[in-house]
Amino acid sequence: MENIQCSCESDNVGIFPCAGAANVGQLSNKAALYLTRYGVGTMMCTAGIGAHQQGITKSAQGCDRIIVIDGCQLACAKDCLEHAGIQVHKHIVLTELGVKKSKNPDMEPTELKDILEQVKALF
Ligand code: SF4
Repeated sequence: MENIQCSCESDNVGIFPCAGAANVGQLSNKAALYLTRYGVGTMMCTAGIGAHQQGITKSAQGCDRIIVIDGCQLACAKDCLEHAGIQVHKHIVLTELGVKKSKNPDMEPTELKDILEQVKALF
């Protein structure tokens, strides 16, 4: 697996998925993991930011760049970070990449692969 780097070329990039219950929320988690595996940054706990956990908030504040992956335009993860006073540098909304939001978390493997490739191509 080749490494890809965030366009800022920093080694200290935090990736926060919304990890919601809808298909696109679950997909945000997969996308964050995928980008972590490709070396774009490190997946971090969005719920910890929402819960005002000090250690997690400090880690986020210490990142050079913050990437947020939201499933839909409600942008829950972005709101979590911004409510904690953390600047979001790149915001990805999966429904804007053509995924339809639904309550069914299962995706066809080919559709999943296609979306993950689209996310990867944003870097
Ligand atoms: S951004 Fe959309 S998918 Fe993600 S948690 Fe919020 S409502 Fe759910």
